[in-house]
Amino acid sequence: MATQPEVGVSDFVLLDNLTTDNFVENLHLRFKHNKIYTYIGEVLVSVNPYKSLDIYGPQHMAQYRGREMFEVPPHVYAVADACQRVLRQQGKDTCVLISGESGSGKTEASKFIMKYIAANTTQVHREYIDRVKNVLIQSNSILETFGNAKTNRNDNSSRFGKYMDIHFDYKGDPVGGHISNYLLEKSRVVSLQPGERNFHSFYQLLSTNNAHTKKFGLNTTTTYKILGSERPTAQDSKLFSVTNSAFTSLGFSQAVVTDIWNIVVGVILLGELTFSEGQEGQLDVGGPLQACARALGVAAEALRGSMAGRVLAAGGDLVSKRHSLCDAHYTRLALLKAAYDRLFTWIVQQINKAIEVPAGTYKNTLIGVLDIYGFEIFETNSFEQFCINYCNEKLQQLFIELVLKQEQEEYAREGIQWTPVKYFNNRVICELVDAPHQGIIAIMDEACLNPTKISDSQLLEAMDKRLSGHKHYTSRQLSPTDKKLKHSVDFRITHYAGEVIYAVTGFMDKNKDSLWQDLKRLLRSSSNASLADMWPEGGDHIQKTSKRPPSAATLFRNSMSALVAGLQTKEPFYVRCIKPNPLQTPNTWDDQLVRHQVAYLGLVENVRVRRAGFASRQRYDRFLKRYKMLSQYTWPNFRGTSDKDAVMVLLKDLQVTDVQYGHTKLFIRSARTLHQLEAARADL
Ligand code: ATP
Ligand code: MG
Repeated sequence: MATQPEVGVSDFVLLDNLTTDNFVENLHLRFKHNKIYTYIGEVLVSVNPYKSLDIYGPQHMAQYRGREMFEVPPHVYAVADACQRVLRQQGKDTCVLISGESGSGKTEASKFIMKYIAANTTQVHREYIDRVKNVLIQSNSILETFGNAKTNRNDNSSRFGKYMDIHFDYKGDPVGGHISNYLLEKSRVVSLQPGERNFHSFYQLLSTNNAHTKKFGLNTTTTYKILGSERPTAQDSKLFSVTNSAFTSLGFSQAVVTDIWNIVVGVILLGELTFSEGQEGQLDVGGPLQACARALGVAAEALRGSMAGRVLAAGGDLVSKRHSLCDAHYTRLALLKAAYDRLFTWIVQQINKAIEVPAGTYKNTLIGVLDIYGFEIFETNSFEQFCINYCNEKLQQLFIELVLKQEQEEYAREGIQWTPVKYFNNRVICELVDAPHQGIIAIMDEACLNPTKISDSQLLEAMDKRLSGHKHYTSRQLSPTDKKLKHSVDFRITHYAGEVIYAVTGFMDKNKDSLWQDLKRLLRSSSNASLADMWPEGGDHIQKTSKRPPSAATLFRNSMSALVAGLQTKEPFYVRCIKPNPLQTPNTWDDQLVRHQVAYLGLVENVRVRRAGFASRQRYDRFLKRYKMLSQYTWPNFRGTSDKDAVMVLLKDLQVTDVQYGHTKLFIRSARTLHQLEAARADL
């Protein structure tokens, strides 16, 4: 391949004077030339171009096949190839951790990685492998339909976290996969910010008059409440067909697909029910009750009853309680969120059945791809941001452990001496959130279990009591003079990525995440077999179920621990995504916005850590191949025994001294040296 002129530096370790200014400037310079990818050693920094670049075709894939990262321009394909090479050559599991804020290009990057992996297979069992590839890729369309939405930050924003394992056989061909989903933003079903949309599925279903909508009297022109002010578009109608063919490709039966769309109809119609207080104080339910009940496969009377009141287990007895208007509204909201959330998770489970490695097929290694929400700091931050930011703390902790661990292990393996660099370890913040008994999650759970109803502000008092004096926690009560803590409900966590002020309002309710037993039983009794399958606990006898299920935060914490434990066993690769502007437009650079992301992703520190040890390490054979022409002793051929000897002779001739010779690799201390070698090569 012809060497392309270098724009700025393609690896930040080569940056002469490492400051945030210079870092951002290099990123900007490259962005202006459509060079959206830059390395920090093996970490890939990716800037969203917001336009299609001609860098992803088959000929580009071919360019990266089997090549070392530094030999070809930085690219997400190089990361995918490195993953696959580690897997094939060393038989190790690998993972790609993709992070960045909303709209920075994480999901697109994950799709490019899957595309590359799918294309890079051997020719044997072509038909079978093609099916697996197709299924893996099609699963994205379904996930995006049900889990993505247009937000003010991204027209196709993933509102859930996703981790996908792709399994390979001993030849390195994909044989199946498994998806784990994390914390869907279910509050979106019932409340939308101005200018935002609900999940794509609703608009897709309503974009055409189809069998599902006709059956229940829905049409394309009516405005439905949960859709907000947004209307279905032509694109929705196109994607509706894509979703349905993806269902077919994945082997979903027509009956199941009908069940799924019926639930979506049911959710839309639930939003249309009206409540009023009758003359005798009873709750009247109006609106499309019949159609809604039909869509959900339950009796209209039973649905009405579950809105109008509930049965409680109190001291071993069953007591009926009438709902006030306010209770009914609350019940509907809880049902809407829970029904959609379960639907989403259930769909993921069905996809997993479709992509699981068939029994008897040999699974050898795997590549995990993590596409998960980045750090979020909004105007008002709630329970969801609390969980998402905790997830980022955990991943940052993993980054610290893995990057440091890897460096140290490599130095030890190669017999190299080095002094470790010190930098902020965020373990203390993880523990602030998840420590047993003392952490915020434990305090919340304790409050939720209290038999007397605890309010959000009482929860905050309990947190203040236990956490006062913690370096990373404060609240309005504890720091009354702090101007940023404006409201009595505010508390602040100083995250590794910056300060976030959370409003405690709604924490108790969201953490309890409970749904009345009656509703669970109602859904379990549905004639819609898929819906009934989503609610197994609805079959329990009501008096047996007084034990509280684990809280939302505890479930999330457990899923994060499991995720991190899984990632820890794999060889990690990182893609750090950056959003160049808030407008979702090409060729526009917002320096402030980029600078902020560079800061909280810790990218400059990343370069520093990478350089504090050695700026670069390269296998002797590769190094020799690249630079042998710089010395008469090694060009065209070195008359000696080993590549290591040749490199020693070469560097002696060039008077390069800031290196250490490992057993199999050369370690170059300063970026400048590498720079000079590259320059000398270019001058020839
Ligand atoms: P969220 O956290 O909201 O899910 P995200 O980081 O997953 O955001 P993406 O959905 O991947 O962001 O990217 C947002 C949009 O940016 C895409 O829909 C696409 O239009 C554009 N985009 C991202 N990456 C690229 C790329 N490499 N080339 C061209 N366009 C891109
Ligand atoms: Mg996404």
